[in-house]
Amino acid sequence: MGINETQQQLLRMLPGVDRILELAKTEAFFDNIPKSVTLRCIRAVIETLRSAILDDTQEMTSQDMEDAQVLEQVKRLAAQSMTPNLRRVINATGVVIHTNLGRSLLAAEAIENLMIIAERYSNLEFDLSVGKRGSRYSCVEDILCEISGAASAMVVNNNAAAVLLCLETLAKGKKVIVSRGELVEIGGSFRIPDVMAKSGAILNPVGTTNRTHLKDYEDAIDSDTGLLLKVHKSNYSIVGFTAEVSLKELVTLGTKHGIPVMEDLGSGMFVDFSKYGMIKEPTVQDSVAAGADVVTFSGDKLLGGPQAGIIIGKKELIDSVKKNPMNRALRIDRLTLAALESTLRLYREPEKAVERIPTLQMLTCPLRSIEEKAEQLAEMLKNSDNRISLELMNLSSRVGGGALPLQDLPSKCVGVKVKGMSVNQIEKFMRNHIPPIIGRIEDDAFIMDMRTVATDELPLIQKAFADMLAGL
Ligand SMILES: *Cc1c(COP(=O)(O)O)cnc(C)c1O
Repeated sequence: MGINETQQQLLRMLPGVDRILELAKTEAFFDNIPKSVTLRCIRAVIETLRSAILDDTQEMTSQDMEDAQVLEQVKRLAAQSMTPNLRRVINATGVVIHTNLGRSLLAAEAIENLMIIAERYSNLEFDLSVGKRGSRYSCVEDILCEISGAASAMVVNNNAAAVLLCLETLAKGKKVIVSRGELVEIGGSFRIPDVMAKSGAILNPVGTTNRTHLKDYEDAIDSDTGLLLKVHKSNYSIVGFTAEVSLKELVTLGTKHGIPVMEDLGSGMFVDFSKYGMIKEPTVQDSVAAGADVVTFSGDKLLGGPQAGIIIGKKELIDSVKKNPMNRALRIDRLTLAALESTLRLYREPEKAVERIPTLQMLTCPLRSIEEKAEQLAEMLKNSDNRISLELMNLSSRVGGGALPLQDLPSKCVGVKVKGMSVNQIEKFMRNHIPPIIGRIEDDAFIMDMRTVATDELPLIQKAFADMLAGL
């Protein structure tokens, strides 16, 4: 397998790094690009060309080796490496709390506070009233107690950390009784049995998958029992012949035997969604009122704030959680605290929370507003090209984030087909566009659900389709 004549010729034509670098210096485009990046891109492009020449399956021509061609490639690569890898996308999936796309969008109030705290020093761990070291949680503790009714509160990095930390503090080396119907796995490999093992607590499952009775818990209690745990069935539901013990009954049982009761609420919400025509779910306040000793939940699921794990409950227990040295490894960052505090303050008026917090806004958005966006987008795309065929579709959005899996959210979608392109090609183009537009494929059409698309994103979608058609 030697090199043939043509390949040798092409290799000789391959420009040198220095020549392309000199050429790059004459172009304004490279003024704002660090020299190291330009150099790295030139080397990469030349190396790719060399491999392509030697690869018998690729047809390279002398044209590909021309300076201008090579420089064009370098430009493309340099532009790519100057774009942040973490970038905004347009979520046209209709999944409101989309863990892969960043879960919850922050309210304007949260963003404003976050920017101030990001830019300046703050009293993060400094008690201004006494001029001494203070607690990192103090800024959110009062508001959490105020809106939940709990006596005490703290926060960590996420809810997985909250569960781990609480189990480690309250039940290390002891048995934790959980119903077999609640041994949850949620996305990203959070599984109750695994987290339990990592915490050093011993899982003591009771009941069956579909039915667990109070007697099952009571029979399992012995001198090694450290905790009764209830876990929210976030992303699934058990229907049919079922029985489940309520938190309140567990609390009564726990009190009788002197064993604390913890609830992992998963999503955790302060607003009663049934007021907005959605399925009734117990709120954080309900769990506190039922007498749970400790309740944990996420900051960025139905709460609609930043990623955080919130722990509320009885003072003594929360105090011991605060003192756990493991806490230091799971601690929350100041930017998160800033966004979380502002988000929580909005819950003082639930109607205001629903109005101001994007996650809640999108979930409770009237169908008519979604329809208007769909009609507007269809109009914009229709006018741009006659190769596009469009259909307005009545499909359902999803809550996502392992919350309200049974909630149906009727929505309006724009389905697009393009003459001369497969639906997979459309999906790929949109995904690689800047900003990327993430939709889904159904019935051989590229589907965009307007529930999760903002009105000011419609022109960006229009531009993406124009770019795509221009390249056809
Ligand atoms: C989502 C969820 C978690 C994990 O929360 P994160 O904030 O994603 O770490 C834990 N338990 C339950 C029941 C959940 O639904």
